[in-house]
Amino acid sequence: MNMHDWRSRRIVKTPQSERKHAKAQRPEHVILEARMDRVEIIPLGGLGEFGMNMMAVQSGDSILVIDAGLMFPRNELLGVDLIVPDLRFLLENRDKVRAVVLTHGHEDHIGALPYLLEEIPLPVYATPLTLGFARGRLVEQGVLERAEFHPIRARDTLEIGDMRLEFLRVTHSIADSIGVAVQTPAGTIIHSGDFKFDQSPTDHLPSDYARFAHFGEQGVLALLSDSTNSERPGYTPSETHVRRHMEQAFHSSRRKIIVACFASSIHRIQIILDLAREFGRRVILIGRSMKENIAIADELGYLKIPEGVIVDAQEGSRLPENMILLLCTGSQGEPMAALSRLALDKHAEFSIEPDDSVILSARVIPGNETRISHLVNHFCRRGARIFDESHWMIHVSGHASQEELKLMINLTRPRFFVPIHGEFRQLYHHALVAQETGISKDRILIAESGDIISLTADSAEIRGKAPVGRRLIDQDGQAELEESVVKDRQQLSEEGVILAVLPISKSTGLVRGLPELVSRGHIEHEDGASLLSEAREALMKALEECTEEEREDSLVLSEIVRANLKRFFRKRTATRPMIVPVILEV
Ligand SMILES: [Zn+2]
Ligand SMILES: [Zn+2]
Repeated sequence: MNMHDWRSRRIVKTPQSERKHAKAQRPEHVILEARMDRVEIIPLGGLGEFGMNMMAVQSGDSILVIDAGLMFPRNELLGVDLIVPDLRFLLENRDKVRAVVLTHGHEDHIGALPYLLEEIPLPVYATPLTLGFARGRLVEQGVLERAEFHPIRARDTLEIGDMRLEFLRVTHSIADSIGVAVQTPAGTIIHSGDFKFDQSPTDHLPSDYARFAHFGEQGVLALLSDSTNSERPGYTPSETHVRRHMEQAFHSSRRKIIVACFASSIHRIQIILDLAREFGRRVILIGRSMKENIAIADELGYLKIPEGVIVDAQEGSRLPENMILLLCTGSQGEPMAALSRLALDKHAEFSIEPDDSVILSARVIPGNETRISHLVNHFCRRGARIFDESHWMIHVSGHASQEELKLMINLTRPRFFVPIHGEFRQLYHHALVAQETGISKDRILIAESGDIISLTADSAEIRGKAPVGRRLIDQDGQAELEESVVKDRQQLSEEGVILAVLPISKSTGLVRGLPELVSRGHIEHEDGASLLSEAREALMKALEECTEEEREDSLVLSEIVRANLKRFFRKRTATRPMIVPVILEV
């Protein structure tokens, strides 16, 4: 079967014989079915693309939003810091939108919340840790007062319009994750959230198998399930695995240990803090989000910080090398994050010395491979020992592999199956996995963002397309860049674009001569020329302060150019032109 095959399968009807069977099993649907009740599922992001997970569920005159996530741009999107879903569909239906439920606190599920609330103030339902992380994002964007936070716990229920929600605990790489069962007159929809079936989670809170099975027994109209790891056979190892392997890395380390992980990976952070105590090390937190998230998790009781194990940088810098553990952000090689600064020897308190251990305990987000490889090169140049996923199991995935995906299907026994969260290849493989459990092909819908999935008690079809797209957001979260060329030009005509051409010597890696700045559409007044030469001088000064190593790394250099020029123009002219650094090797 080819991809075309799947996409062209628009209308799916259950054969008459099976329909009868379904009615016998679920009598409560008969009367409702006579009213031709429908539930519509509209993925606004995250299907056919990685990240930016957001979904609208419409029943009667109510719309429920599940997740509001962002996506991080790939390197080629210069001047773009994050991407959020286009909200047109929700805006057009704004009187129906009742609430948003967040399944967990990862950026690809909560990162677009400020942009959603900015447009539509809404009640937000999520578990306490998820709300804690979301609150931080809202404060940053100044939209906290537009949210109405409702903390919920697993197994809580909630009525929204004619929908009855129940939250189902799942295990994932972040604590306090949930899936959602949405009971509608047309039938029950189960949204898995991001999940894996960890049998020995570090917090001893496994997924709620009983409730998933309960709904399976009652009858599930559709299962929407996480496809991220649908290409991986077998089972995803437990988070407890990480502890054992991390322990080995600690054992073999005689000098400083630097651990990088996501600031949201609270289970992982717990493991690291516990090991630090066992090995007599003190932990210094580096990076704002790391400090903030640990404070939130500690306050809400999701983290047990061993007494005295965390010290500040000043105290830490006076400790002997073999007592130091730096816990930092920047595992994706973000040029301005703590880990990059350490790799380039640009950190104020700490420097990397030969035989320091660098533990990269996070997955490589697709698109970040080059940046991370640059980062590892810099660490190796300083003689550090690298522990990463390729040779050490110091990271395990938070997403279900094929056997766990099958278990989810077998527990919930859905009439229809819709793979979610993933690029087309992941959705496609998840569909194949579902078929292996006996779900026939005509009950599987591979939908992509924007498809309107329309379900009745015995049919599923994709009827039409809702407006979807991406909004490209600039670092300050203020300026927004539109994706389409027309709108791009509009934006450029208002703020302009600055092209910074930097001639770099191929042999020495040094900047040769002044950078060339070309401006289009930005500040058309008389002193435009002198402003550019001023900008050029400011940039030169910044470049002089760079180390040779920074200058040799084109990614780091581009980021320095961008950050400096951006700051310059904001300060001098209060404008935000798009800065495009071009490194020219001569
Ligand atoms: Zn996710
Ligand atoms: Zn997640």
